[in-house]
Amino acid sequence: MKDIEKRIIESVEKKRCEIIEFVRSLIKYQSVNEPPTGRELECQKFIAKKLKELDLKVDMFTPDEVGVMKTHPAYAPCGSSGSPRIYENRPNVVGVWKSEHDGRSIILNGHVDVFPVMTNEKWIFDPWAAKTANGMIYGRGASDMKGGLGAMLMAMECLQEAGIKPKGDIIFESVVDEEFGGGNGTLATILKGYQAHAAICGEPSELRVCPVGYGGFLFDVKVKGKNAHPFYKKQGVNAIDVGIKIVEALKRLENNRSKKARETPLFSYFDPACPIMIRSFNTGEHVGGGLAPSCTIRAWIATLPNEQKADVLNQIANYFEIISKDFPILEENPPEVSCLGRYLEPWITDPDDPFVETLKSTVRKITCKGAKVTAGLTCDAFLFSKYAKIPTVIFGPGSALSAHNIDESISIHELVLATKIYALTIYRWCNS
Ligand SMILES: [Zn+2]
Repeated sequence: MKDIEKRIIESVEKKRCEIIEFVRSLIKYQSVNEPPTGRELECQKFIAKKLKELDLKVDMFTPDEVGVMKTHPAYAPCGSSGSPRIYENRPNVVGVWKSEHDGRSIILNGHVDVFPVMTNEKWIFDPWAAKTANGMIYGRGASDMKGGLGAMLMAMECLQEAGIKPKGDIIFESVVDEEFGGGNGTLATILKGYQAHAAICGEPSELRVCPVGYGGFLFDVKVKGKNAHPFYKKQGVNAIDVGIKIVEALKRLENNRSKKARETPLFSYFDPACPIMIRSFNTGEHVGGGLAPSCTIRAWIATLPNEQKADVLNQIANYFEIISKDFPILEENPPEVSCLGRYLEPWITDPDDPFVETLKSTVRKITCKGAKVTAGLTCDAFLFSKYAKIPTVIFGPGSALSAHNIDESISIHELVLATKIYALTIYRWCNS
């Protein structure tokens, strides 16, 4: 290894305690996303202060302050959950480490908002105390994604400490409103003009390199029944019976889509490889104690980069038609499919792109293992790939399994590895 690379790694090792403490400080800010609003402000001020200490050029702006936002095709007035958004006191923070040269630049992107902690959740660890135990840091946002955000920022500090002068610009972005399918925070950075030759979205990927991302959207399937007295139920249709068949049908569709998705190795990591998740089963109000007159099933479906949303919706509708032979009740009571909220689009960066190669070889160097290359989960990354045409990779410490969960945590070992990988990737990308 070159001396200079050794110096970068040593600088991360020296700052191990500071990395842990910085991520702990981020977790202690309760920057909860609570649609339509969010409480990101104080944490963003803290990050802005840190970026200024690193002598970066700091820009703070709310998505509302970016004029062209609301007419952009990717702007969503509501997130994927359908809830409206208000951006007062919710600034993005962008810090630019400007280079004197015009080498390859990089965007380091992460969201500062975290998923709420529900009142009925029984945590062992206080979600806002950021306690360390068992080699982990515990707290809301530890994995999703104050770990990744903190590691990316500390990677810059470590590069400075190692005396590195980047030959391309490094653009660090701490954005608001990613949870609940927001996306407008990252879109605002793109529309404000922040561009680069590559982008890392530091979402938790367990250090897997993800040059491709799933899409997904919510949809409703509505079926009607026909009321009848319980003792004359054969003359009526219980919408619940129809709804159960819809759920079974969606499970079959999930199996078929997943089988097909697994044919592409990038999509073979998760099981199921292309999930459909039933979110709710609502039977509405009963009339006079009879059969359920209607039923609405709300579900979320994952989509793949070669798919258009309209085609997937058609596929769902057609599927109900095809299987109605097996479930005659569906034939007589055709379901209505409609979608709601923002569509988080699937995306792909060429897995052989030089940036993906740079990241993979750095992962190999630091972990002494080959990099696992898989699809990443739905997040803001699609905006870079689709709307800014930037080669994009999701790569971060922590696990989506822990995200949004009780006793969310991140492994300190992984956090430090991620910081080394970020620092060395930035150096290799910008300075060669
Ligand atoms: Zn996230």
